[in-house]
Amino acid sequence: MSTDTPLKPKFYKTEVKPVWCPGCGHFAVLSAVTKALAYLALPRKDVAMVSGIGCSSRLPAYVSVYGFHGVHGRALAVASGLKAARPELTVLVAGGDGDGFSIGGNHFLHACRRNMDMTYIVMDNEVYGMTKGQASPTTAPDWAESKLTPHGPGVPSFNPAAIALASGASFIARGFTGDPNGLAKLLVAAIEHPGFSFVQGLSPCTTYRPEQKEWKNIVRPFELEPTADPVEAAHRIQADDGMSTGLLYQSRIPVWQPENLVSTQVDQLERGFQV
Ligand code: SF4
Ligand code: MG
Repeated sequence: MSTDTPLKPKFYKTEVKPVWCPGCGHFAVLSAVTKALAYLALPRKDVAMVSGIGCSSRLPAYVSVYGFHGVHGRALAVASGLKAARPELTVLVAGGDGDGFSIGGNHFLHACRRNMDMTYIVMDNEVYGMTKGQASPTTAPDWAESKLTPHGPGVPSFNPAAIALASGASFIARGFTGDPNGLAKLLVAAIEHPGFSFVQGLSPCTTYRPEQKEWKNIVRPFELEPTADPVEAAHRIQADDGMSTGLLYQSRIPVWQPENLVSTQVDQLERGFQV
């Protein structure tokens, strides 16, 4: 990424100090998000970040744009409403693997196929971190460190990229917090993509999954150029172990944006609910 950005990433950081554990991957996601916003020189008033619940969902508190730290698993639903009412905003949605793929799994499927113009960043550490280390949808079946699943969850893990593709997503990428510049580049591409862009960020939980520190030795760039062919993308995603990073799939399909929902109508709706 070019260094001659007109704004510094710091411009997009709040004064709030993150409460994440030392070494948590989410610090690098914060860095990547602010780098991407600075590169794109987006006015802060034109950006909104929506999140659910979890360690990663604290992100809006640390990014100096409009923010909504909402309800567990409902970030995409809130963001869809926001984008419908305020199409001129750049809408970023952030959360974790538990929030996004379990509690919010249904919203994820339909956000993919609806293809509204927003970017969804999922900080995937294969664990519920904030509630002290339970297995999540992306946890391997034999991970036996949680007292709730002492023999491991025992069921195959959720493949976010494959599910996104099958659900009709038009942009699917995977980044790694060990490479914040690479992640920032993916976020720039995701934000610029017209439609729903899904970025899975491999983001180690140093407290409950300390073995993920080894990810830096496993993660490598995706070998092939991105494809726009969903059949080819499906083959590649299924053949991959989930540790390849880069833009996996990008296609151009119609962006869904309701035409008749304008701010004045939202105002009218609001008035209708006044007591
Ligand atoms: Fe990060 Fe894990 Fe700590 Fe949560 S519990 S802040 S995910 S290291
Ligand atoms: Mg998690």
